[in-house]
Amino acid sequence: MVAGGRVSLAARSIHRTRSTHPGLDRMTEKIADEGVPLYEVTDWADRFPWVFAGITHAGSSPDPFDLRLFGDPPSPQAPERWKSLLRASAFETIVYARQIHETRIVVHDDVGKGVREAQGAADGHTTADSGVLLAVTVADCVPIYLLDADARAVALLHGGWRGIAAGLLLRATTLLGVRWGTDPGRLLVHMGPAICGECYEVGPEVFEALGMEGPPRAAPVDLRGALAERARAAGVPQESITVSGLCTLCGDGNLFSHRGGRSERQVAVLGIRP
Ligand SMILES: [Zn+2]
Repeated sequence: MVAGGRVSLAARSIHRTRSTHPGLDRMTEKIADEGVPLYEVTDWADRFPWVFAGITHAGSSPDPFDLRLFGDPPSPQAPERWKSLLRASAFETIVYARQIHETRIVVHDDVGKGVREAQGAADGHTTADSGVLLAVTVADCVPIYLLDADARAVALLHGGWRGIAAGLLLRATTLLGVRWGTDPGRLLVHMGPAICGECYEVGPEVFEALGMEGPPRAAPVDLRGALAERARAAGVPQESITVSGLCTLCGDGNLFSHRGGRSERQVAVLGIRP
């Protein structure tokens, strides 16, 4: 449990290794053991010190670091934990939305301070303002981090199969082009911890919705692989697409998995440091 006051971001280390996704670099996270339970995407932190990208995890406390706000019931500790996360990041604002597996993306400019819920449901956020930390809640779905370093703009998406099939990623790259002048050729796309292509068994209707060939029975699908294809199709260079090595279900046990029977949620965050 994290009490009040400024808390330190825990130690972290991510390095690139060969991926199970052919041609894609993998970023491997290490477990944090103090402060707000968090992994940071340190590869981006090294290259772009003005960017903060990460994801919370359960932590080592017997009371897991659950940030679920919309569950039934929501976690009673969640509002205080969101404030702790904001304090730990040293950002002025953290923004989130009720997520509904669709493709609406909210542009945040000139938002107020503190923990703030966007008006209306949304499955993505973008900003070019410093001090505004974007947040999506996940527990198997893919947190998709987008960074345009030239425009100093970021976007963060909640990618479940429905949103991916509905064109969430293309909608984001198009929106970034309109709002920040982003060319997909200079965009970085990182797919964070999510259920992996061996664990996520789905019916034929999901393969069909994703436009993929699949067997006429339940079989595993790789959402991050499907997203990588979409990123390439949108014009993002292969070398600019990275994938986390962590699976929420068969990984280190530190992440919540909906398929694994957990009702708790972790939160992915991305922003331009104040
Ligand atoms: Zn897995």
